[in-house]
Amino acid sequence: MSNFPPKKFTKPRPDAPRLLAYDIICEVNRRNGYSNLLLPQALTSSTMDERDRAFTTELVYGTLRMQGLYDHIFSQISDRAWNQVDDDIVDLARMGAHQIFAMRTPLHAAVSATVDVARKQLGESKGSFINALMRKASAQELDQWLEPVRAMSDNVARLAIEYSHPEWIVSAYLDLLKDVDLVEAELRSNNTPAKPTLVSWPGASTQAELIELGAIATEFSPYGARFDGAPGSLELIRHRKAGVQDEGSQLVADIFAKISSSAATTLDLCAGPGGKAALLSHICEVSGRDFVANEISEPRAKLVKNVIGKFGVITGDGREIASHGRTFDAILADVPCTGLGALRRRPEVRWRRTLKDLAPLLQLQMELSDAAISVLNPGGFFGYATCSPHFAETTGQVRQILKKYPELSLVDISSALPTGLSEALREGSLSLWGHRHNTDSMFLAIFQKAN
Ligand code: SAM
Repeated sequence: MSNFPPKKFTKPRPDAPRLLAYDIICEVNRRNGYSNLLLPQALTSSTMDERDRAFTTELVYGTLRMQGLYDHIFSQISDRAWNQVDDDIVDLARMGAHQIFAMRTPLHAAVSATVDVARKQLGESKGSFINALMRKASAQELDQWLEPVRAMSDNVARLAIEYSHPEWIVSAYLDLLKDVDLVEAELRSNNTPAKPTLVSWPGASTQAELIELGAIATEFSPYGARFDGAPGSLELIRHRKAGVQDEGSQLVADIFAKISSSAATTLDLCAGPGGKAALLSHICEVSGRDFVANEISEPRAKLVKNVIGKFGVITGDGREIASHGRTFDAILADVPCTGLGALRRRPEVRWRRTLKDLAPLLQLQMELSDAAISVLNPGGFFGYATCSPHFAETTGQVRQILKKYPELSLVDISSALPTGLSEALREGSLSLWGHRHNTDSMFLAIFQKAN
């Protein structure tokens, strides 16, 4: 700790990775930016070497994930109430804490480099405040800070602090998993960055080709392979013969395609940005089925168009799909949801979503389901998918749909489940979990309309 206090009156020389990380964290926390868009864009135009890129990436994503825990620590050591401290100080302190507690940055470097960013970007006075915070935070190991937290008797409050999640998300997991250890495992999995998973698209590439390139076959999806490198370095990806897609999403598309294999026409109602549409459309193409995508957002509809070859995209509100005068034998509605099943890949989503978002989402999900069912042919299949395991958005909606539409019955999907996934069911629907399956926690229910 020889650098305490930092030498006064020297010019601050913050380094490029920390400056960039700080900018992105501010943009995400204060102007609703998306880290998974901002960071890759910034890194593409930067001249940083691989080491600095990796450092910046961990600093941005890790800080955004763990900031709830760091706020808990700072709220105990700050002499000003932490919720009244300026946002710029809060963001920078969180970033310093991540280096101290979670990265292998030598302590003196973590502290002095963070103080340098403060002095340059926020001024000397805030720099001194940051210096004091860093000094107090680093006086104890993380385990020591966590000791009183781990002794808390309220499991939800304890897990929320230790694993840096809002309490309502911890409660939602507990409602479903009913076991504190399993909830803990899911929270831990949300804090573990997911490696990119590649997906081969039938007719364009094969899983074997991905394996030849050094990727390792996914456990359940017949199309996927896990890859350690940068997907953009692969020609198959650059030439749009294969894609990047979480294994859980691959399984949703695969299982839906298997169950609805008799369908002549398939619609993906909420297709953007096109992950499931890409796989489904390729499966449809090689098996001679027709495919149409729909997406409300124009930029996302363009992304879908890029990956579904000869098939068409409707840019429109899925709730008005009937206005196109077409009906379908199979419809997948991968509806907008809280995204609680993809938190490991979207670091800030846990802080952005609130319980208040749930009611309007539930309504939109039901309206999209109503619209899909209205254009579903007799005997046809309706797939309802979310990247959330939340009960109200999943099993709750399935129960309502069954009540509202006596002509629909829930399809037994067990015949379409890959080996090893037979227990991944909740009331007959696919319910994946990050901690169990190393996938996003996706949900899929498939209904069939009576003839
Ligand atoms: N299936 C996509 C994939 O695998 O890449 C992900 C779908 S995402 C969960 C939901 C999509 O629904 C978003 O792209 C969103 O823009 C779109 N959406 C939201 N409201 C919609 C509406 N009323 N009609 C159609 N699409 C809508």
